[in-house]
Amino acid sequence: MIDDIFCKIIKGELKAEAVYKDAEFWVIKDINPQAPVHLLIIPVKHFESIHEVTDKDASLLGRGLMVADKVAHDLDLGDKGYRLIINEGEDGGKLVPHFHIHLLGGKKLGPKIVK
Ligand code: AMP
Repeated sequence: MIDDIFCKIIKGELKAEAVYKDAEFWVIKDINPQAPVHLLIIPVKHFESIHEVTDKDASLLGRGLMVADKVAHDLDLGDKGYRLIINEGEDGGKLVPHFHIHLLGGKKLGPKIVK
């Protein structure tokens, strides 16, 4: 795990290239893109994993998917498609301890979900 750089980005302590912001979510370009489009959908409210989400905040997860889909359509990925990925825990490959959704697209990604 590395520091929660996403909280630092949202607080303005670190720079990132944001493509979308609202009161609940920021969408930034991944610093190490794995596809022509590789974005991270990040909730402003800090929580590390889905496991911490309570019923009170459950709708936030759904809104994260809606933000991802909106941004994908804004970037004209809607017709060709895109992939959303959530890494959880060490075996899941999570590096940044702040919940986020990867959005990948801009090419045919193929069937593989791991390298
Ligand atoms: P995960 O493995 O799901 O925790 O993914 C973390 C992602 O954050 C990786 O794809 C990194 O390339 C990306 N990342 C790390 N630091 C930054 C940063 N400063 N700005 C944008 N993306 C970052």
